[in-house]
Amino acid sequence: MWLYYATNNMSRFNADLHIHTDPGHGDTPENTAEGIVASGIDVFAITDHASALLKSENPAERYLDVRKTIRKLVGGTRRRILGLFGVEMSIIFEGISHHVCYIFERPVNSSADVPLILPVGSGPKDLEYLRDNYSGVALLCHPALRMGGQVHHRRRHRRVAAIADFMESGLVDAVEGFNGAVLSNGSSEEITRLGIEMFSEAKKIKPNLALVACSDAHRARIIGSVATRFMGKKPEDIFDAIRRGDTNPIFIRDTVLRKVQEIFGEA
Ligand SMILES: [Zn+2]
Ligand SMILES: [Zn+2]
Repeated sequence: MWLYYATNNMSRFNADLHIHTDPGHGDTPENTAEGIVASGIDVFAITDHASALLKSENPAERYLDVRKTIRKLVGGTRRRILGLFGVEMSIIFEGISHHVCYIFERPVNSSADVPLILPVGSGPKDLEYLRDNYSGVALLCHPALRMGGQVHHRRRHRRVAAIADFMESGLVDAVEGFNGAVLSNGSSEEITRLGIEMFSEAKKIKPNLALVACSDAHRARIIGSVATRFMGKKPEDIFDAIRRGDTNPIFIRDTVLRKVQEIFGEA
């Protein structure tokens, strides 16, 4: 799982597919752009909460501001950073609320390109609608986050089983086994362990399920603390890599790498 194969004409790319700029919640577009450039990642996705996007008259505005600022910062260099538009939604599946980031494959160049229907705390039908009408990938975010540090055995079993059911629905392409915001706080061990356990169970049901690592940055300084590495000819190949289940988590920030080594031993 942790090894790479060198293939002709292929390059390695790093993606951070879960970053917030929600007003009063995430960082500003300017700080976010600086954080993205400083982190060294090749692909980013701005995934504000659906509730924030629906409140906004121009839902793509902050995303476009991030892209514009990045262009200013890297203009005149050979560096290319692919910016993707996404949304984080609450999807209630069989009575359990999951956070799902949907990343759109088609470029978003204005607010008119953003779907008018974005599920907020709704059921799998809405995610199905999004998938049927807008090509993209769905990431199940921080699967164990809301279970708290000390997880009751029966609740834990039920939650792992619920993730398996969600996989059978075919609505999810990847599980965010490593979440930078979780790894940056004190009670990350149990949540991260359980998240990886859930990923392993889910992968038995969906063999091409991808494992991704995202910062879930609400402050620009944690952007790229963890990332998802994939092989491809161009940054856009992230979508194929996720659909094939051919991605690897990487830990860019030293403190995060040490924490992961503490939790899982030296890999
Ligand atoms: Zn979330
Ligand atoms: Zn988030």
